[in-house]
Amino acid sequence: MYLAIFLYLLAIVLQLYAASYAVILFFKSTEFRRSSVLLALGLFFMTERRAEPLYEIYQSGEYSIEEAIFSLVISALFLIALKQIRKLIMQLEEKNFFLDRTAKVDSLTQAISRSETFARSELEIERALRNKQPIAFLMLDIDHFKKINDNYGHPVGDIVLQCLVKHCQEELRAIDIFGRVGGEEFFIALPETSEALAYEVAERVRKRIAAKPSAIVNGEEIHITVSIGVAVFDPSCHGETEANIILRARYKNADEAMYFAKQSGRNRSQIWTHKMKSESH
Ligand code: GH3
Ligand code: MG
Ligand code: MG
Repeated sequence: MYLAIFLYLLAIVLQLYAASYAVILFFKSTEFRRSSVLLALGLFFMTERRAEPLYEIYQSGEYSIEEAIFSLVISALFLIALKQIRKLIMQLEEKNFFLDRTAKVDSLTQAISRSETFARSELEIERALRNKQPIAFLMLDIDHFKKINDNYGHPVGDIVLQCLVKHCQEELRAIDIFGRVGGEEFFIALPETSEALAYEVAERVRKRIAAKPSAIVNGEEIHITVSIGVAVFDPSCHGETEANIILRARYKNADEAMYFAKQSGRNRSQIWTHKMKSESH
């Protein structure tokens, strides 16, 4: 009889141990919290069933060693399974987090990716529409970047890109969106920013990049310049209300203005005007 009691008690302990894994999963997981709590509840209720034979022994003294062993085996299997599930879920969530980050952040420069830049810009346009505030967009492209690669090699070109991102991020506000949308092309969204202010920001960024070395090779400072196109969306002047259409149009305009800046001699900022439409590439 004591052996049966011992086996049932051990089964209860293992069952509670298994339930505690589900509870830990509930606190640690971000994606599987609901299923973890259901699992924990199920296991706690099953523990109550494990206690029933003990009550039976206490009441009538009847027991079955085979039943007690069977209960212990079931609880042990639950414990092993829960331990595995917890491990798998934590690994899965870690991988998901990494994949999410990889999709959102450019691994070379740590600037946000093209798709993330557009997704966040669209949200900012929606906010601009709601608040009836202007939002400005800048397209920034490094001048003659190919020459940097040709003269100093790709790894130095990579350092130049990383340095440029650092300068831009330091110059911009936390609410601004700054992303790498091409090899050496960057797109910036400036919420609540008028055309005049956007031009000022573009010039500040441009001058900072031109003034500071972007890399040092064998003691030689490497300087780059950038051309920036500026396009603004002001809900009080424009009738569009579809964020993605507005974004596509302003992206195109900022690109056209940037291209115009290139044609005008590079190392300059250019506000988009209607006449650039036909002159663009
Ligand atoms: P422009 O002033 O007209 O913009 O001339 P550019 O040389 O900057 O433009 P072009 O489009 O001819 O060349 C862009 C170069 O950027 C070519 C490509 O090798 C380089 N590039 C793109 N992505 C990377 C990168 O991740 N690392 C490095 N090192 N270079 C890159
Ligand atoms: Mg370029
Ligand atoms: Mg380019």
